[in-house]
Order: sequence, then C-alpha cells, then structure tokens
Amino acid sequence: MDLGGTNLRSAVVDAGGGILWKTGIPTPPEADREEVVAAIAGICREAVSRARDLGDVRAVGAGAAGPLDAGSGVVFTPPNIPGLRNVALAAELDRAVSLPAFVENDANAAAYGEYRAGAGRGAESLVVLTLGTGVGGGIVLGGELLRGAHGTAAEIGHMVLDPTGPPCGCGSRGCLEQYASAPAAVRRWHRSVEDGTFPPPADWSGPLEGADAADLYRLAQAGDPAALAAFAETGRCLGEAIGSLVNVLDPETVVLTGGLAGAAEFFLPALEKTFASRAVSPAREKVRILTGTLGGDAGLVGAALLALERLPPA
Ligand SMILES: [Zn+2]
Repeated sequence: MDLGGTNLRSAVVDAGGGILWKTGIPTPPEADREEVVAAIAGICREAVSRARDLGDVRAVGAGAAGPLDAGSGVVFTPPNIPGLRNVALAAELDRAVSLPAFVENDANAAAYGEYRAGAGRGAESLVVLTLGTGVGGGIVLGGELLRGAHGTAAEIGHMVLDPTGPPCGCGSRGCLEQYASAPAAVRRWHRSVEDGTFPPPADWSGPLEGADAADLYRLAQAGDPAALAAFAETGRCLGEAIGSLVNVLDPETVVLTGGLAGAAEFFLPALEKTFASRAVSPAREKVRILTGTLGGDAGLVGAALLALERLPPA
C-alpha cells in the first residue's frame, strides 16, 4: 500500500517486484482517524483478496509519509493526513487482513523499489532523490536501507544549499527542496518573466500565475528561454547537492525519480556539469546518474519488497 497526500493505492506485487494488480482512490480529505483507517483497511483487504486468487500471500507492506517509526509501524505526524496522527498503522493493517504488516517511510520505500527492481538494480549502493511537490530521498548502502538512529536519515530535501535562502516548511532556510522541487522551478520561471529577465512566452494566454510544472515542460520543449533557464538552475542546484552526497557516501548509482524527473532532459546537462565540479575523483567519473524506471509505482514495489525482506524466516 502507498498512502500519499493525494492518493491511497494498493497493489499485488510478486517477489521479484512485478506488479500483478493495482488500484487506487483519492486519499479521503480532512478525514478523521476512523475514516482514514477504514479506507486503508478497505483498500488493503481488496488487494489481499486479489492476491489470494493469484497465489500465496505472505505480508503487507505500506509506505507512508514520515515521520514514523518503521520498527513499531507507528506514524507520528504526517503533514498531509492529520487523521493518521500517532496511528499504529502496522497493527491496524495486521488487524484488517490478518497478515504480518510492515510500515516504511514512503521515500525510503520508493528508493528500495528502484534499488531492487528499477534503475538501481544490480547496484550495492545508491542514493535516490524524489523530485515532486517536495524533494525526498532514500539511501541504500551495502544492500541495506539507511534509516538512521532516529528514523530520519536521507532527508535529502532538507540539505541546506544556502543558509540565507528562503524559509522551508521544516523550520530551516535554503533547503534543497526550496530550489529543486517542481513548484520551485515554476516559481523561478515566473519570477524571471515578471522581472523582465526573459520575455513572456509567445503563445501564452492567461495569467502567468496559473502555470504548473507540466506547462513549464511544454514551454521548454518549445524552446522558451525562461523555461530552459529555470530547468538549468534546477539542475545546477541538484548538482551541488548530489556532489556533496557523493562525496559523503560514494554510491554506485544516483537515481532521480518523481514527476520532475520526467523533465530530466532539460536539467541533466547543468546537473552533470555542476556535479563534476563538486564530486571527488574517481567517484566523479564513475557514479552513474540515472532516472528511475518504476515511476509512481516505486513506493508500492519497495514497500512490498521490504515487507518480504522483514518477514521472519518461516
Ligand atoms: Zn527544509
């Protein structure tokens, strides 16, 4: 199961990470604890019943927004789903479907999915950056997901690029998320048109405020200089962060996933140039920077594979 701020999804995943069946509903907005738990239990029961038609079901894995305790499966204060505050999610799932259930931070689950069944397949170590509304991350070292001493490892979006930069939702300033998320790219484009650095796009009708990341992508495809510059600056900021990450962790592979990774063609050149000026050799030449292959399913696949992994031997 993957519980996001927008969608609640479940899938049947095989031991190799293949999706056999999947479904999804909008996350109940403003739902209280009872409604959220009922929706989660319902969608998991549906997946388990489909899975039983297909074969032997071993476990349930769930990805949810942190902070959470993967060991006990308790979700603490999910930012977008207030009804889930302090819910023992693993225990609720176990009760709903009578199967061992495991909970993981959603960004970690997505990273594990790409590691086992996606772009990171075959690597022993990788760093995954999820570029979307925010910037998330996950790290696998020597085949193990890095959770940290307090469960908050790999908060890559909150690496500080500029201590004097804009305030961030986490309470800090100038975090990577303020420079490399999809809304940050759109903001940068908007600002550069409004302050006259670039002319407004020729065929744009309606207010500039209405633009989103998909518009920005279309504009870049059409050669709009402001859109190309906004993506290049996104790439430069990512190159700074990935350079530092590689200097600390020296992974084999870096994987970029999330909606904004679909625009990689427009920011990878700047990313690679900045990365090369920051990373230490020979990692600089050898680290592979790839886009993910599982798309929005990485979290579902990773949560399932982690659950199998965590299952005590029969
Ligand atoms: Zn932050």
